[in-house]
Amino acid sequence: MKQAAISALLLPLCIFQPLAVHAETAPSYRDRLLSLHQSIVEIPSIYGGEAEVGNFLIDYLSEQGLATERQFLPSSERFNVLAWPQPRTSNYSRIIVTTHIDVVPPYFNYSRSGPDPPTAETVIAGRGTSDAKGAVAAQTLAVLELLSAGSITGDDVMLVFVVGEEVNGDGMLYFSAVMAERGTQPSVAIFGEPTNSTLACGHKGALACNIKVKGLSGHSGYPESGKSANEVLMRGLLKAIDTDLGKSELYGNTTINVGLMAGGIAANVIPDAANASLAIRVAIGPQDSGHTIVQDRLQEILTSVDPEAFTMECPFGFGVVDTNCDVEGFETDVMAYGTDIPRLQGNHSRYLYGPGDILKAHTADESITLGELESAVEGYKKLILHEIEPKNSTRR
Ligand SMILES: [Zn+2]
Repeated sequence: MKQAAISALLLPLCIFQPLAVHAETAPSYRDRLLSLHQSIVEIPSIYGGEAEVGNFLIDYLSEQGLATERQFLPSSERFNVLAWPQPRTSNYSRIIVTTHIDVVPPYFNYSRSGPDPPTAETVIAGRGTSDAKGAVAAQTLAVLELLSAGSITGDDVMLVFVVGEEVNGDGMLYFSAVMAERGTQPSVAIFGEPTNSTLACGHKGALACNIKVKGLSGHSGYPESGKSANEVLMRGLLKAIDTDLGKSELYGNTTINVGLMAGGIAANVIPDAANASLAIRVAIGPQDSGHTIVQDRLQEILTSVDPEAFTMECPFGFGVVDTNCDVEGFETDVMAYGTDIPRLQGNHSRYLYGPGDILKAHTADESITLGELESAVEGYKKLILHEIEPKNSTRR
């Protein structure tokens, strides 16, 4: 519902020209795409265990003639995969095309259903098929296709497949730090996450908060003799859920997910302690401080419910993240999830685009169609060329 409402708001901005790939006109790269996607989905790569799929990609990309680098995180066996066409005249690539190679648990294996031989309607299920190994495969094929067509050179594009996006973004944070230190920050970053093959105009911010309530224990028959931490917590959270914490035309409402709650020790004891952990999706900016406005409002609400009982700490947050969606030929939308985008520092243009439906990602039946993967290869090619072509035309 919310997604539909947001889409409706965006309608005036849309240029609706979907990138169609028809079953009867299979692209020449269909088999390579299908087989690369299958190989990487068949290797489980839950956070902490990304090395095997990283090694596979290093081998695969080297075999395709790309230069590769295992970018090891400090004091770790875990590494980001970097690859760029050769030769390169500097140590710098102007455009990075990036996504993540870690997936959420639990792992479940690759399977395929539908016509044989596969067509655009073929459904591919398995952990990571969409989030984000669909993007890994489509981005790789897009770069290889552009390279073999002579449309890009070694200095134009680098593939950056990072670890850790699903947990703490440590892969992208480290990549960003290394680029800043080397002075090789890109001018453009194209991020791959499931956007239903729409070009995102941005995504909501996030705020993570842990709330504790201190009560007073007592006999449950005499509620006035104590203070129920559970009750205070529930009143505070419900008031926060029912209050406008910040909304905007493009991103809709700020929403709260009370993902964890705990409190009390027995049914007949007034609980003297309770706690909750919240994931808040922030609908207001700016990127570097929009979340602090939400945090202040939340604190005010809790204090109004009980001026002494609450303590809150919010270790992590950012406001809405705007991305460039002014490219002809794409349907546009905004996303309600977080990405690695705010973790890459610098003054680059940012895009967010990828195959697959976010509502299927992280579920027990994550899947994608071959047609979505093929459309995404074309979509990534188009985004890269959109950034390459103006540069080429000024050279002439
Ligand atoms: Zn993802």
